[in-house]
Amino acid sequence: MIDLHTHTNKSDGTDSPRELVNKAISLGITLLGITDHDTTSGWAQAAETVRGSIGLALGSEISCLTNDGVSVHMLALLFNGEHKEMQIMLEETRDGRLPRMRKMIEKMRAAGIDISMDDVEAARPDGAVLGRPHLADALVNKGIIKSRDEAFQGMLNNGSAFYVSHAAPTPVDAIAMICAAGGVAVIAHPFASHRGQTLQAADFSDLVAAGLHGIEVDHRDQNPDERAMLRNIANELGLVVTGASDYHGNGKLNSLGEFQTAPDQWERLESLADQRRVVRA
Ligand code: AMP
Ligand code: ZN
Ligand code: FE
Ligand code: FE
Repeated sequence: MIDLHTHTNKSDGTDSPRELVNKAISLGITLLGITDHDTTSGWAQAAETVRGSIGLALGSEISCLTNDGVSVHMLALLFNGEHKEMQIMLEETRDGRLPRMRKMIEKMRAAGIDISMDDVEAARPDGAVLGRPHLADALVNKGIIKSRDEAFQGMLNNGSAFYVSHAAPTPVDAIAMICAAGGVAVIAHPFASHRGQTLQAADFSDLVAAGLHGIEVDHRDQNPDERAMLRNIANELGLVVTGASDYHGNGKLNSLGEFQTAPDQWERLESLADQRRVVRA
């Protein structure tokens, strides 16, 4: 069982890296991708926890923004975690998340919603990359809404008046950086239309020219039609097809292993990295 896209409490998941790896082992997952938003800070604890036959594909889900303002998530797997420029790129995105959160809070306060940066900080686990889910948790803690899900269906949605984007690399720049760091680039849930504006089929050729290796096709946020379109695009462009849960612990309904990647697709993807980097006991 291969699940290439999961989150821990180093970003907006709720399990520690140790808990996540232990859960994956008990579920019989053979290869687990750990892809916290814009950070590699969970890698060391995850690697320490490895035992038995599980392998880890350590990575990150890089927040990107196209020049037209479309939000894109790029999965970076099997790259060199010590690549300087990559770490600087991730750090710049993380740094942009604080002023962005302040702006969202300001807008909410202006609308009479009683929420502060302190409330959000209280909801964010130590060292976690700050994101909208922590604002959602703060709103839940104050009794303003019932769940993260409710927040993303309403006031924290990309289309909401309270939404503010943060500085981020373009998908092309992120892909180039992933390749420079020796890793593989898989575009995450590209047709997840309920999250906001998405890329068009015609946009993929530029990403392939930049070095894109794969497309995340099987993901709960893409319906069967969207998956079929993506599978066609992948076939036409010679890209690897992946599937994954995007597990966030208790933060989302997604359960670990609910979507998977076929072993032959994984083997092809792994062979495209510059080194063998799967972490094993
Ligand atoms: P941000 O990176 O701060 O813009 O926040 C985006 C994050 O919110 C993504 O990682 C999603 O996983 C998460 N998210 C999106 N929709 C939902 C939802 N319905 N419930 C919980 N988390 C969500
Ligand atoms: Zn997330
Ligand atoms: Fe994502
Ligand atoms: Fe994700």
